[in-house]
Amino acid sequence: HNHIDHATAEKAIAAVHAGDTHPQIPDYQTYAEYVADGGYRILAELRAGGDWEAVQDKVLEAGLRGLGGAGFPSGKKWGFVRANPGPRYLAVNGDEGEPGTFKDRHHLERDPHMFLEGMLIGAWAVEAEKAFIYMRDEYPAVLEILRREIKALEDAGIVEEGYIDLRRGAGAYICGEESAMIESIEGKRGEPRHRPPFVAQVGIFGQPTLVHNVETLYWVARICRFGPEVLNSVEKNGRKGLRNYSVSGRVKNPGVHLLPAGSTIADIIEAAGGMLDGHAFKAYQPGGPSSGLLPAHMDDIPLDFDTLQPHGTFIGSAAVVVLSDQDSAREAALNMLRFFEDESCGQCTPCRAGCEKAVKLMQADKWDQGLLEELSQTMVDASICGLGQAAPNPIRLTMKHFPEEI
Ligand code: SF4
Repeated sequence: HNHIDHATAEKAIAAVHAGDTHPQIPDYQTYAEYVADGGYRILAELRAGGDWEAVQDKVLEAGLRGLGGAGFPSGKKWGFVRANPGPRYLAVNGDEGEPGTFKDRHHLERDPHMFLEGMLIGAWAVEAEKAFIYMRDEYPAVLEILRREIKALEDAGIVEEGYIDLRRGAGAYICGEESAMIESIEGKRGEPRHRPPFVAQVGIFGQPTLVHNVETLYWVARICRFGPEVLNSVEKNGRKGLRNYSVSGRVKNPGVHLLPAGSTIADIIEAAGGMLDGHAFKAYQPGGPSSGLLPAHMDDIPLDFDTLQPHGTFIGSAAVVVLSDQDSAREAALNMLRFFEDESCGQCTPCRAGCEKAVKLMQADKWDQGLLEELSQTMVDASICGLGQAAPNPIRLTMKHFPEEI
């Protein structure tokens, strides 16, 4: 069954002996190519005497919001961090552990320097002493690309050796939560902190820390180079901007699709080549498992920040999963809760015990809806972080929209 022919095995062994343990590095834009394309000019200009507030204004004007899922206006964070005395740090959240999300990887495997320049602009804006990149270890190609390209930046004198500290995550979903990520960077167990104080005040090693998602910084660089129009000139369904949707599930062409931020699921399915043959659209996850499932008839909602709140969900990191008539909404919701049960850090009881209890209740032939609702409310009210607070979304939305299955 697991038959590997002799030639393939020999080739793999030779590759390991040659130190080439990860031969699948995609074609990406190298430092030299990026510079030839005008890269790092803006950074040099800013460092030579730019005004950080002017850059902040541009970023705010573009309407850029945190693309890790929280959607906080990106430029505003800079002022919060700067309001606190240094040394200050910058931390990049590259954990990308939200099931169905792969947009950061998409960019890092293609144009890593657009992100790196954005990161250095952010670091410049808050006068960061050091920049930490917390990178998902399940992306070996990305890690290798970053190692090479950070070295290129050091060799070119754009950063001092050691200024960018590339850290590997260890597969814990919770380490994508910013304060748990900071704990992990400090070498501790990844457990979310209570807030306040916010990480902009008390972050890495107790110092003010600017935390941005990879894609957010990618857009910072683009806004600085091409102007706020790169985002705010696009308008659809009353929403401005662009969104990288990570699309998977029963569509013909899954992948990252860059569309206007006001796109609906109908637009996204169309951009993804339509439904797979023999599959009829039934339901969709708008933004990661914490966003639960919406039914196919709700196909006219722009999938942007703020637009999904009235429907009891949110866009998060725009991880769209399309389900068909061959899928069970009930099974999908159970799968989501199993994921949260596995990934709960265990620090607080409503989430640790709540996820476990929810999974048991959801395995029953008939759901005890009263008890599940009571449990959901307790988790929302009393969990420390977003994992426990949002975990009930799949339960509630399934009860609301797919009652025939439960
Ligand atoms: Fe940990 Fe869950 Fe509590 Fe968050 S809500 S701190 S993941 S136990």
